[in-house]
Amino acid sequence: MHLPAVEVSQSPEDKFREYLASRPRPQRYTDQQRDMVRFIFSQHNHFDAEQLIDDMKRAGFAVSRATVYRTLNKLVDAGLLRRLELGPRMFYEHDYGYPQHEHLYCQKCGKVIEFQNPAIEAIIRDVGTQHNFHTSGHTFIVRGTCADCNRARVTKRMLDLV
Ligand SMILES: [Zn+2]
Ligand SMILES: [Zn+2]
Repeated sequence: MHLPAVEVSQSPEDKFREYLASRPRPQRYTDQQRDMVRFIFSQHNHFDAEQLIDDMKRAGFAVSRATVYRTLNKLVDAGLLRRLELGPRMFYEHDYGYPQHEHLYCQKCGKVIEFQNPAIEAIIRDVGTQHNFHTSGHTFIVRGTCADCNRARVTKRMLDLV
């Protein structure tokens, strides 16, 4: 399930190019970076760097590990991606052009379920107001076991009883 995209004025590529050009030492937008931005923004996903490297290689792109790690950091810095600390590895997902949402993370199979809930938004707004704090975003991850894994566990327990 994917949430509907948010309307944005610039393409992710243009936004990233602008970010690179605005650095204290302006940087060139390389072919490898262009491949990465296009690949990442072709679908919404929660991915880690190694997964991205494998997927891009499988799709026929020549990517260097060092470039991928460096570019991921820049994409976070540019506001295009955000980091998600799901397990021992760092995950990434679209921030630019994608609505604020929360996550359920299954610790058994690694599934990530996205959801939105107005009550959570309201609480965060209230807390921000109380502290005179201007909020710009948040990361909310609920850890546990998904329905499929729960079912598998119950089935296994029943089989053990037979
Ligand atoms: Zn699961
Ligand atoms: Zn997400």
